[in-house]
Amino acid sequence: MDTVTTTEAIPPWLRAPWESLIRRGRDGRLPTGLLLHGATGVGKALLSRALVQALLCQRATGAEAACGECNACRSFVGGVHPEVLGLEPEEAGKEILIAAAREATDFLSLSGSGNLRCVLIRPADAMNTNAANALLKTLEEPPPGAMLILEAAQPARLPATIRSRCQIVEIPTPGATDATQWLLGFADDARAVDEAYAASLGRPLAAREILTDPERMARWEQDREALSTLLGGQGISVMAGSMQRSLPESLIPRIQALLIAAQRLLVSGEPDAFGRQFPRDQLEGFARRTGSRRLAQLSAQALVWQRQATRQLNPQLRMEDIARSFLRR
Ligand SMILES: [Zn+2]
Repeated sequence: MDTVTTTEAIPPWLRAPWESLIRRGRDGRLPTGLLLHGATGVGKALLSRALVQALLCQRATGAEAACGECNACRSFVGGVHPEVLGLEPEEAGKEILIAAAREATDFLSLSGSGNLRCVLIRPADAMNTNAANALLKTLEEPPPGAMLILEAAQPARLPATIRSRCQIVEIPTPGATDATQWLLGFADDARAVDEAYAASLGRPLAAREILTDPERMARWEQDREALSTLLGGQGISVMAGSMQRSLPESLIPRIQALLIAAQRLLVSGEPDAFGRQFPRDQLEGFARRTGSRRLAQLSAQALVWQRQATRQLNPQLRMEDIARSFLRR
């Protein structure tokens, strides 16, 4: 289980889905399979956990959030509630395997003490085909009180048999104004908020982590340094060396954002929010040297790098390949 706390206020853009889900939950009208579809970092985990905690809470009624104080809330927050199981990859970026999925279905088939027994699957699109198939029977013939909440940014990667047995709830991505307004509740400094929001590529929950977790902030600063060497074109070994200190899954989407920022600067004459995190003359120099045609090619190439980001490739060769692409005209 991650560190999202659930006794906080529901962010404004999640209020509509929250109201609908909690009311249906109170009336016993939620389906066995609930598929929350939304971009990474918009709050799917916060919403699903808030929902389950509120339904298990011994005090909350109506559309109220969980109290955070009763025994049920305490064991939920402590990750030891007996009616809740998290189904996640053993390591970030890896698949969820069939053995873990079987544990989850076994867990749901045990008769619990209450009315609700819940498995939170995160991210559901990390399940491999066998793991997903292991859930089918539970979705078709659910034991009493069983509920599966699947969180997915790319539900198309789930088997159609799973998708068709779940009710899909669309989780909206907030606009910049709503997101930064919310983020100001966690930092006083508007510039820091703008930076974290840009660094998160418009994902408010990820931006909050950058604001509040020094490790995430350090990772962003390392990524920004690596991106600066790409802008400066300082030679393959400098560029690849700096990029190797970053995590590919964090760096590569930011490379893509940098390429978009350079393209926008050429078109509109102004850097976008991500582009503003770099010295203007550095970004502009890079954009003009590279040219819009080559920038478009690099953007397309970045999609391939992104698909490869979680694979076990030799990191040095991969980063050298990226550096070489940036130097090629
Ligand atoms: Zn409670």
